[in-house]
Amino acid sequence: MENVKLYKYDKKSLKAEEFINHDEILRTLDYAEKNKNNLELINEILEKARPKRVGNQTFCKGLTHEEASVLMACEDKDVLKKVYSLAEEIKEAFYGDRIVIFAPLYLSNYCTNGCIYCPYHHQNKHIPRKKLTQEEVKAEVIALQDMGHKRLAIESGEDPVNNPIEYILECINTIYSIKHKNGAIRRVNVNIAATTVENYKKLKEAGIGTYILFQETYHKESYERLHPTGPKHNYAYHTEAMDRAMEGGIDDVGLGVLFGLERYKYEFAAILMHAEHLEAVHGVGPHTISVPRVKRADDIDPNAFDNGIDDETFAKIVALTRIAVPYTGIIISTRESQQVREKLLKIGVSQVSGASRTSVGGYTEKERPTDTEQFDVSDQRTLDEVVRWLMEQGKIPSFCTACYREGRTGDRFMSLCKSGQIQNCCHPNALITLKEFLMDYATEETKKIGESLIEKEINNVPNEKVREILKNNLKEIENGNRDFRF
Ligand code: SAM
Repeated sequence: MENVKLYKYDKKSLKAEEFINHDEILRTLDYAEKNKNNLELINEILEKARPKRVGNQTFCKGLTHEEASVLMACEDKDVLKKVYSLAEEIKEAFYGDRIVIFAPLYLSNYCTNGCIYCPYHHQNKHIPRKKLTQEEVKAEVIALQDMGHKRLAIESGEDPVNNPIEYILECINTIYSIKHKNGAIRRVNVNIAATTVENYKKLKEAGIGTYILFQETYHKESYERLHPTGPKHNYAYHTEAMDRAMEGGIDDVGLGVLFGLERYKYEFAAILMHAEHLEAVHGVGPHTISVPRVKRADDIDPNAFDNGIDDETFAKIVALTRIAVPYTGIIISTRESQQVREKLLKIGVSQVSGASRTSVGGYTEKERPTDTEQFDVSDQRTLDEVVRWLMEQGKIPSFCTACYREGRTGDRFMSLCKSGQIQNCCHPNALITLKEFLMDYATEETKKIGESLIEKEINNVPNEKVREILKNNLKEIENGNRDFRF
């Protein structure tokens, strides 16, 4: 590794090696290890993280990477119980029972990178390469709309010749333009490789929601080994991408680590440092954090990576993320089984994907195609089944996309979250979009469960005026009108 001592930790720096500082992470992990049985300190940290009521508002302070790392190091069973119940309490206070649903849409698997863990790596000669034409994008979107999806995350390999930014922009435009029956995609999040400020500006102008980019690993040496070739090899360019995205005007950004590649405690401290950096420099933390784990895929054996984590550790990561960054959404994909997802729903997850197909052109195939899949999908249920399951778990499935369409992005979304107005805003929006789903796409059984859930949840809107408007909107939806929002 190049001489890391040259870099000094500075969360306000714009240099990757300074805001994700290797020495600071090692110091943090050492401090955490030394204090992992210091129950006095641990209780103080838990107390700091607890939601506090000031007047009629609830606040949470979150935790620093150092504090959260102490909790991560602690193996005491009673402390872990407290961590889980605190995570549940925080989730309840800021996100309520709502779970936002989305689906990924794979545009192209052409890729010039050599990522060791990804089947799209360019040395993989036996995977068929595919790129959707605009006609095919349209067909995929119609298939997704016909399931009931309103929110997509588009995914693509990095290939400046086959998938230039113009191609991505054209696809976004196509996606937003399709209105099939009562369907519409109202929010397109984008998960494409790190790019320039100019290109981020273009994505912003195209009306994207969140720009998502997984760091994969924050450990520079491992990062360079895992990305041996292609533009993604450049650690600093990749790590500084969110700063360029924000400079380009995108204020909702989504972080993520691919768990299994490096030691999870290292990654956990680092992703929180990344969040602190964004907050310090841009005044707004990450909109979401994703927690993917390496999965089997064509040419990829997850056991080839030394740092796989078991379900218990995974749950601890999710719960501590919820506690450390209380206003950030946590996303869990169909990489995880129904059983794992069920456990994580309780302790902090706020968004799930449903009925996902991770192959290029997968939604228009009758049978789930596996030849171009990016990873094995563990949870293969239909969207109707996922919606019903969420309700059976006591959750409110939400297809809401209102915030960004109302300009509530970045710190404006965060202030909504902090002001406790979510119950008068996100809650009715969840019920409105669930109602649309029930009217247009649900099976009879799901509809029955959903209708009684809505009936019950109307009463949980605190503001009387909002409640009346909501009731009216729900009636309008029954009359065939769509797309109401607060
Ligand atoms: N190509 C873009 C980039 O370089 O950031 C992003 C799109 S990629 C289709 C989305 C994510 O899938 C990657 O960032 C990686 O974390 C994840 N991924 C790749 N291979 C995987 C595997 N075998 N199992 C689970 N997730 C994987």
